Amino acid sequence: MFFRTETIHLRRGGQQLSIGCEAEDATTIVVDADDVELAPTHWVYRSFRHHSAKTHAAGCANCRDGAGKKGGGGTVSGEWLPFYRLEDAMVAAETLAPERHSICNMCIGEYRKLGSGR
Ligand SMILES: [Zn+2]
Repeated sequence: MFFRTETIHLRRGGQQLSIGCEAEDATTIVVDADDVELAPTHWVYRSFRHHSAKTHAAGCANCRDGAGKKGGGGTVSGEWLPFYRLEDAMVAAETLAPERHSICNMCIGEYRKLGSGR
């Protein structure tokens, strides 16, 4: 089906994004998240071997959209988990590895701590 639309609203987990530009005859269509493949913005690498979890941005050289440094995705020693918000990824990393979670210094190190005002 072809939609003549310039604005698409995506809803996922209470988050709403608008994609596209406004045009004079723009129609707003709300697309269910199940119908849309969104690229994850953040990934958590969970290491089985080290019982640790590290949060990365999707574009990070260590992450490469979940393919990993060597490409090809997960390994026997760990797995990549996709997330759509930094906050979600960090909460998941903390849940998976309460003692050993961190964020990658290469890509999002400047965020330091969730909710930190400093
Ligand atoms: Zn990274």
